[in-house]
Amino acid sequence: MKTCNRCEEAKPDDEFYKATAAYKTKDGLRNPCKKCSRKDAKERYIANPRKKKSTASQRKSRREYARKWRLKNPGYYADWFKNHKETHA
Ligand SMILES: [Zn+2]
Repeated sequence: MKTCNRCEEAKPDDEFYKATAAYKTKDGLRNPCKKCSRKDAKERYIANPRKKKSTASQRKSRREYARKWRLKNPGYYADWFKNHKETHA
């Protein structure tokens, strides 16, 4: 048994997630119980919804940049291969 530091309920060990190397506790279990951990994660997500993957427009501009770069450097990969052929043979 272990007492959750959030809801302050005593719960069996399997109601707590295992602590990782980055989150060491003396009994090897995380402090908030599973229910509170899940609630925390949900609240964090709601508080920071923009902390997600890049937006569609960011992805698009990166793709555009790569496309322009390839147009500006058409022989880049062919030249690289030619120049490195001997060393890689
Ligand atoms: Zn709890």
